[in-house]
Amino acid sequence: MTQSQIRAILARNLESVQARIARAAERSGRSGADICLIVVTKYVTPQIIPELVALGCLNLGESRPQELWRKAEASRHLSIHWHLVGPLQRNKVRRTVPLVELIHSVDSLRLLEAIEHTAQQLGTSVDVLLEVNISGEKAKHGFAFAEMPQVVAELRHYPHVRVRGLMGMAGLEGGAAVWRKQFASLRQLRDDLSSFCPPGVVLHQLSMGMSGDFEVAIEEGATMVRLGTVLFEGLPPECFVHE
Ligand SMILES: *Cc1c(COP(=O)(O)O)cnc(C)c1O
Repeated sequence: MTQSQIRAILARNLESVQARIARAAERSGRSGADICLIVVTKYVTPQIIPELVALGCLNLGESRPQELWRKAEASRHLSIHWHLVGPLQRNKVRRTVPLVELIHSVDSLRLLEAIEHTAQQLGTSVDVLLEVNISGEKAKHGFAFAEMPQVVAELRHYPHVRVRGLMGMAGLEGGAAVWRKQFASLRQLRDDLSSFCPPGVVLHQLSMGMSGDFEVAIEEGATMVRLGTVLFEGLPPECFVHE
């Protein structure tokens, strides 16, 4: 398949996803422009990245730090905003921080501490989201709801980390009604936490919604959706990374 055929498939998928985002945003009294689309590139080879950029997708996400390093390196001449959406181990903080626009997956105070330390040393500040375990599934990462007021109150100790909002992933089981409840609970938590936030901390962003549930997430207030699968449908096998 030629590069221009690949681009045509991506363009068609993107157009249809953007229309779905816009309709869901309208159902929540917003416009599609209020929702940030983060294209999660973990399934595809680095060769797809320039095609995405050519289509105007500049916010790209990876779930593994090493993959993010690799793809950021391969596309460093492009003006991409990288998002880390998966778990970050503390020994990978130093190499990750300079490359990313936003870390969605801060799930412990120890990690927050490590990011603070690095940001301070580099003389920079780092934007992050706090990940909350909205499904309650044991295998899922994230803070528990109950510990969030305490966590947010602690943020004054991390002046080089700017917490911009919350991130959550719906459970595997359940279907739309269950996901809707989980997304709504994250939005409610964000609103409730504002009274615990130290001065200067504004929790605005809600990163929630993946290929199977992004419309529900937007209806419940998502400001960022993280989409992979739905954007890469129909691409030939050589476009995908095989693990
Ligand atoms: C892979 C991944 C996504 C994208 O998932 P799709 O269902 O393929 O859209 C979003 N968020 C995280 C944290 C992921 O790991």
